Amino acid sequence: MLNQEYLRQHPFILNALALVIGAFCGNAVNLIAQRILAAQPIFKLQRDSACCAKRLTPLEMVPIIPYLLRNGRCRYCGATIHWQGPLVEAITAITFVILVNTFGLSWQGAAMIYFVCTLIVVCITDFREQLIPHHITYPAILVGILYNAFVSRDLLGALAGIGLSYILFDFVSFYGLVWHEKYQSKLAAKNVCADRTAAGADTESQQDSSESQILEADTASPSEQKPTNIGAFSLVGSGDAVLAALIAAFLGWQGLINALVISIFAGALIAAIYRLVELHKHQMLRQCMKPAMIGFASSFAVICFFFAAFCIIFSADRMVPLLPGWITLAFVVGFIGALALTVLTTARISKPFPLAPALALGAVAAIFSNPIGAIIRGGAQ
Ligand SMILES: [Zn+2]
Repeated sequence: MLNQEYLRQHPFILNALALVIGAFCGNAVNLIAQRILAAQPIFKLQRDSACCAKRLTPLEMVPIIPYLLRNGRCRYCGATIHWQGPLVEAITAITFVILVNTFGLSWQGAAMIYFVCTLIVVCITDFREQLIPHHITYPAILVGILYNAFVSRDLLGALAGIGLSYILFDFVSFYGLVWHEKYQSKLAAKNVCADRTAAGADTESQQDSSESQILEADTASPSEQKPTNIGAFSLVGSGDAVLAALIAAFLGWQGLINALVISIFAGALIAAIYRLVELHKHQMLRQCMKPAMIGFASSFAVICFFFAAFCIIFSADRMVPLLPGWITLAFVVGFIGALALTVLTTARISKPFPLAPALALGAVAAIFSNPIGAIIRGGAQ
């Protein structure tokens, strides 16, 4: 029968099982996110089609395949089914395969699967409505703490990370507000926009949060994160702090720092893609060629400067074998510089950008690698 030993000896069957179970879980994850957004009960067995509210048969609830067979259309009314469903199913399935291959059939693997599913739900709800649902994140934080207490045996690390995440996000929230007010007064002095002032303080703060995208602004969600005083600006929502706490609950404080660092890069990338898509829509893509090239060249030059400086400090003989790595670094940093300058110089057109997907990407990367831990271990030796 399908016992653990058998599955270990037959990795193909294990991977196939992970793929199928992952696709079904992706289906459930997507459904949960949709129900949260629609404020419906999460755990209800019957399912209706989103377009025409027809009760679905068990066969129609199978992930991906019915979608492909019917060309992405509803069987009953012929309406186009959103591609988000099959995409989430595919991503979840692939993630399951990777996690099973990394952690095997273990409690750690099970915990990471649950963690990733939670992250996917949060990503969907945050992308769609800038909402990070507490009734998903809070229970998950508890599960993460239990996992660290009984499986990974790093309860203190997890608790330290949870504390760190709240302090960190409170700091960013407070000083971000101070910075935002200064930046806003400067911006207002620079260009007085008549139509905007008419729109009122609330919409203004919403629009303006996009200006601070480089710091990954996340507008507060209307239902859960909005401060009571109208027009208040928040650089990070309270939901983001909870998401960071969730990451710490599963990955400990080291994992949290890894996730944050990675998410800064991922966030810059996502912001840039958002911006480029919008510029393309407004047919302004050509305008960002110049800042992109300046950004790339200056960032590339900085890395070259450091390489030259290191050659002088450590002797060229030792640095030359490292040249391929440095060239790669120069291109990566140049790329980031190009994106950063494009984002900065085209700040006028944009929409608020969700921080949660960036954090989630960072968290998923932090499951597999722990550079902070490596640095600490290296320092201890
Ligand atoms: Zn339909």
